[in-house]
Amino acid sequence: MDTNDPRKSRLGEKTRLVHAGRDPWEQHGFVNTPIYRGSTVLYRTYDDIKHRRGRYSYGTKGTPTTEALETAWTELSGAAGTVLAPSGLAAVTLALMSCLKAGDHLLVTDSAYNPTRVFCDGFLKRFGVETTYYDPLIAGDIAGLMRPSTTAVLTEAPGSQSFEMQDIPAIAEAARAHGALTIMDNTWATPLLFPPHERGVDLAIEAGTKYLSGGSDLLLGLVSANELAWPALRRTFDQFAMCAGPEDVFLGLRGLRTMALRLKEHEAQALAMARWLEARPEVARVLHPALPSHPGHALWKRDFKGASGLFSIALQPVPERALAAFLDGLQLFGMGYSWGGFESLVIPFDCTTYRTATRWEPGGPTLRFHIGFEDLSDLQADLDAGFARMREAA
Ligand SMILES: *Cc1c(COP(=O)(O)O)cnc(C)c1O
Repeated sequence: MDTNDPRKSRLGEKTRLVHAGRDPWEQHGFVNTPIYRGSTVLYRTYDDIKHRRGRYSYGTKGTPTTEALETAWTELSGAAGTVLAPSGLAAVTLALMSCLKAGDHLLVTDSAYNPTRVFCDGFLKRFGVETTYYDPLIAGDIAGLMRPSTTAVLTEAPGSQSFEMQDIPAIAEAARAHGALTIMDNTWATPLLFPPHERGVDLAIEAGTKYLSGGSDLLLGLVSANELAWPALRRTFDQFAMCAGPEDVFLGLRGLRTMALRLKEHEAQALAMARWLEARPEVARVLHPALPSHPGHALWKRDFKGASGLFSIALQPVPERALAAFLDGLQLFGMGYSWGGFESLVIPFDCTTYRTATRWEPGGPTLRFHIGFEDLSDLQADLDAGFARMREAA
């Protein structure tokens, strides 16, 4: 079904998630678009190949499988188009490279995903792009950092690990007035909880590895663009041929169908856990934008339609051995990078090692949690035992 069809335009978001990018009657009635594997695409005649006539031209340019996810994501995001990348970080790099050239100046939030910074400070610098990091809370004052050569502003909300909220519409408005594009890493919210293009974002990045997958079993990135940013994004994608693997794209499509349900459950579980942690004496602060205690709560309420399952906490000061005792004995929380799957995770982090525009002073050790679908009481018992070990070791 073409859910962009004007007759279907009043379909709800949940209906779109089920139907977008899917036409069983093109697949002999089977519900899902199968995994098309392939490099070569044949042309019937000399005239067809001479004019590259045909719906598909080569494996790197797209298959029915990749097109299904691109189409669905474009609809969901209210975008002009979407490209898929082999990882979330690859999606970040594609978005940046689509709008920068030698001599350009780039503004990046100090709260950005750290590998994004590494790309800016390494690769982009080498190719003559200068990056300035800015305070994530800057809002419309970003206008003061614009130079004649500023062509793009990278945002991320909430901030990676530290969870600052950004005033995306204000930043996008200032960027537009200057003729610069606004890029947003929207992985935390997905287009379901933050419709990026409606809020002024030109290029929106999603690490599909996280909530689109929902299973910690694939690597995928997506970049959606509005009319303004789309032609250059598509051109950049074609020039790099940085394409995603067919199995991962298929699994991404499968994840898409249940993403709204999973996000609702992540939201409920994580909020309940955040409130429980906020009441613990060992916890100094809970960094979750849906809590009224969060400094960015008003922005979250204004611009977001919900919260996902990821948040951080700052502990009261404890010696490192006490932190280790807390983490080492956990039975249900896995300790590892990435998130967005069905299982709960925790990592220790320290933003002081890479921040340059702002100071990160949480006052104690900091942990980031992803809350999965386990029984909340079991997760809380696991953390409760951890706090007991922590007190003992301190
Ligand atoms: C995980 C993540 C990425 C990168 O995704 P990968 O698929 O792991 O490369 C990018 N941005 C944010 C905010 C992330 O959390």
